[in-house]
Amino acid sequence: MNAQENLTRHFTRAELQCRHCGVLRMNPTFLANLEMLRVAFGKPMVITSGYRCKAHNAAVGEGKLVGAHTLGYAVDVAISGEDVHKLIDLALGLGLTGFGLKQHGPMAGRYVHLDAVPVGDNDIPRPRFWTYP
Ligand SMILES: [Zn+2]
Repeated sequence: MNAQENLTRHFTRAELQCRHCGVLRMNPTFLANLEMLRVAFGKPMVITSGYRCKAHNAAVGEGKLVGAHTLGYAVDVAISGEDVHKLIDLALGLGLTGFGLKQHGPMAGRYVHLDAVPVGDNDIPRPRFWTYP
């Protein structure tokens, strides 16, 4: 696989594949929504984490083997300041439903997690927002 291969108009494989092993199983609908979000946002979105295999997720995702990233329905975007509101507003409009915020501490470490995990009958209702320590 060519890591520079374009998956969408604005995102390459390298940006979205597992940073640990290179596996990429992004949900096609989520990927299409991510591209639409990028077009609406109108400027680069720096992806700090896209698809994650279970081993990588366990290492970085609070020790959990399965989550939005392993299911292919999530990205983390390095972003801060007024762009955060713009990105979330657009993402809500496109039907994304999970918003994790890390907006304290050094600017370089700030990000927003965006996801669209399918919701079951017994799951917490969405959209939902949470924060990271
Ligand atoms: Zn991996």
